[in-house]
Amino acid sequence: MSRSRIVIVGAGFAGYRAARTLSRKFRGSAEIVLVNPNDYFLYVPLLPEVSAGVLEPRRVSVSLAGTLRGVRLVLGEVDGVDLGARKITYVDPEGSAGELRYDRLVLTVGSVNKLLPIPGVAEHAHGFRGMPEALYLRDHITRQIAMAASSEDPAESDARCTFVVVGAGYTGTEVAAHGKLFTDSLAKQHRRAGNGLRGDRLPRWLLLDIAPRVLPELDRRLSRTAHRVLAKRGVEIRTGMSVKEATKEGVLLDDGEFVSTQSLIWCVGVRPDPLVEETGLPSEKGRLCVDEYLQVPGHPEVYACGDAAAVPDLTRPGEYTPMTGQHAVRQGKTVAHNVAASYGYGERRPYKHNDLGFTVDLGGLQAAANPLGVPLAGPLANAVMRAYHLAALPGNRVRVAADWLLDAVLPRQAVQLGLVRSWSVPLESSSPELARSPSGSGARGGRGTPGAGSARGPRSGD
Ligand SMILES: Cc1cc2nc3c(=O)[nH]c(=O)nc-3n(C[C@H](O)[C@H](O)[C@H](O)COP(=O)(O)OP(=O)(O)OC[C@H]3O[C@@H](n4cnc5c(N)ncnc54)[C@H](O)[C@@H]3O)c2cc1C
Repeated sequence: MSRSRIVIVGAGFAGYRAARTLSRKFRGSAEIVLVNPNDYFLYVPLLPEVSAGVLEPRRVSVSLAGTLRGVRLVLGEVDGVDLGARKITYVDPEGSAGELRYDRLVLTVGSVNKLLPIPGVAEHAHGFRGMPEALYLRDHITRQIAMAASSEDPAESDARCTFVVVGAGYTGTEVAAHGKLFTDSLAKQHRRAGNGLRGDRLPRWLLLDIAPRVLPELDRRLSRTAHRVLAKRGVEIRTGMSVKEATKEGVLLDDGEFVSTQSLIWCVGVRPDPLVEETGLPSEKGRLCVDEYLQVPGHPEVYACGDAAAVPDLTRPGEYTPMTGQHAVRQGKTVAHNVAASYGYGERRPYKHNDLGFTVDLGGLQAAANPLGVPLAGPLANAVMRAYHLAALPGNRVRVAADWLLDAVLPRQAVQLGLVRSWSVPLESSSPELARSPSGSGARGGRGTPGAGSARGPRSGD
């Protein structure tokens, strides 16, 4: 008799934890299959450090095969769920189609960049949700400073040295905080080498948000710390402000100011992965509806959690759990427990978790944190944050710590490999985890991506 098959779609925070917990519970008595486009778990919270050259990309990419024993990895992007036939279809990295039947299905496909209908943004901005975007940004920043240093046109040099981040949530705040330190260090290296950057001015970073404060979704004390650190560092914080239009030359702000720039970084938030919509199952703001046991009503064999699922928040009745790694990882554990319970291993339990606080990486030795509600700032917050990340990482801990040590004693590497080009990381993508291929499609062929593969106006040949 064939073993029961549990298929998990998506190896992020929720899926990775679900796979690990299930493999430990079943010890081979069920087949656990993990379908993911990449062969690694991406530790997203450290991505801003990759774009700023602090961490090498493989440090935050934890091998699935190397760390998940007893789990069969299938490389591919799921593009269809047939609930009646109990099977999923997928496209593998070389474009071939495949299918897998399941006895239990766990959907943990996460989220993609959120868009706003602002003219020019889809063409000229880049998001920050996956590894390709982080690598693109690191190279793009490095290239802008190098080209600014060699330009004989002061206006062009100033535009290349100006970076606009839209969205001052934790992603935008961390990208701006690290970005400013990175560009300042690159500019100093070019000056020392005798490459002219005008005067002593350092690169300009603007952080915009329509909300009245940075980190609007977090504790006000974290906002105050982040505001103080960024302002001191020279980041221009514009709250109550957004972008009216983006063009090849720059961005027009709400108040009519035109900022010349080649760098518009879009961090306004995320929306659930479009696969949710394609299942045809009931959703709430794009998140798949589940009950407190993380089961899809009417389909007891289907479970979902993490960013892609609308999980009732039992600590705040009437609300759904926020889209954070903290919730996703715990939901992954609960979903594994409940799948096991459906086979008679233990009792199923509802998902309930009280927030343990948040950490925000402000670059250098700075951070803001409120573990268990206690507000911390400066090097102490930074130490707490780094300890937390090292504990939360399922692998590569020594390598990450080594990179942090090297960054503390050596200058940043001012080189760009240019392997990820602007057109391969469009803002509007259902697959931010994959760089688009020259044929204009990702592995999913632009699944659920209006305008997928549309040519972006290339900026400065990048
Ligand atoms: C820059 C940044 C910093 C952050 N910092 C923090 C933080 O400090 N603390 C915190 O709690 N949260 C943080 N978050 C949020 C956190 O990363 C997310 O909430 C978390 O990743 C959600 O986990 P998930 O498992 O639902 O989705 P993900 O971790 O996004 O994983 C989804 C997985 O599904 C895969 N997938 C997608 N579509 C398909 C498909 N069709 N077929 C197969 N596989 C698919 C993806 O490749 C991916 O591997 C941060 C987010 C960002 C962008």
